[in-house]
Amino acid sequence: MLKSIAVMTSGGDSPGMNACARAVVRTALYEGVEVWGINNGYHGLLDEDMYQMERKDVGDIIQRGGTFLGTARCKRWEKPEGRMLGYKNLVDRGIQGLVVIGGDGSLRGASLLSKETGLPIVGLPGTIDNDVWGTDYTIGCDTAANTIIDAINKLRDTASAHRRCIVLEVMGHRCGWLAMTAGIAGGAEYILVPEEEYDLESMCKDMEEAYKKGKRYILVVVAEGAGSAKDIGTYIAEHTNIDTRYSVLGHIQRGGSPTVIDRVKASQLGEQAALAIISGLSDVVFGFNKGHVVSINLHDAVNNKKKLDPEYAHLARVLF
Ligand code: ATP
Repeated sequence: MLKSIAVMTSGGDSPGMNACARAVVRTALYEGVEVWGINNGYHGLLDEDMYQMERKDVGDIIQRGGTFLGTARCKRWEKPEGRMLGYKNLVDRGIQGLVVIGGDGSLRGASLLSKETGLPIVGLPGTIDNDVWGTDYTIGCDTAANTIIDAINKLRDTASAHRRCIVLEVMGHRCGWLAMTAGIAGGAEYILVPEEEYDLESMCKDMEEAYKKGKRYILVVVAEGAGSAKDIGTYIAEHTNIDTRYSVLGHIQRGGSPTVIDRVKASQLGEQAALAIISGLSDVVFGFNKGHVVSINLHDAVNNKKKLDPEYAHLARVLF
């Protein structure tokens, strides 16, 4: 049994990280284990920016987006010397295990720390992109998808009023999950994702045909990894007679109060991570498979590329 653990958030922030860190802290305290919070991702480990936490330190945060611990992208962590310094700073405080909440990059950094030092580490997938291998779900993806749907609903109103085509660019890094999920839920006519080829020329022909038959508007959702809304919108405007606009949703997708799904799932994952690391387990990531919490090998999680569910792609084609 470990007696002292630490928790941190790293990489891009995502709604639900707070609920997750809260669950780690409260589970540890419930089990009688000391718990430290590391500020600002791997920077906090290097700059000794960490503090021992009490129950009240995670009060009034479950409803907030962002991360109360702060997060960062830390170049120094990519070097072995940086990771050794971080390890020393943990050991100096008697911290015996670390829970890292972050995206695939953060988990990669955690995997290296574990391999190089043997420090027990449990990872939790915290990213709106839902691009971590081995889990159906990452903390924040549901809130981000709902934010996108809200934007799609609003764009649909104005597109319909003007008989326009609107191209909406959404986040997702190199993964099309956010675009595909929000595109299906928002009823977009076209969903362009990095995992699938698309043909703008034939899209333009189909759009013109649809307009001739009386279609009032077309919504195209493009994942940032599949192209830019500006380029695609310009192409459509130049190759059709359809009045076309584009919109880039940007960082609004990262923020906002987490949905029920993100709060509950993040809490479940946080609890499991705390229990696992306290019991001495290491090198695992907790995620979800078909609605159930599962553990995945940490190194497998960072060395494999997640694939887009082919059923989603099929559904999008059927519903077009
Ligand atoms: P998101 O998916 O939201 O972008 P992320 O965790 O993937 O989140 P990254 O910027 O890729 O975000 O990674 C966060 C931090 O993790 C980096 O700034 C760096 O400190 C660490 N990290 C990423 N890749 C590596 C690596 N190959 N080796 C060591 N550390 C890494």
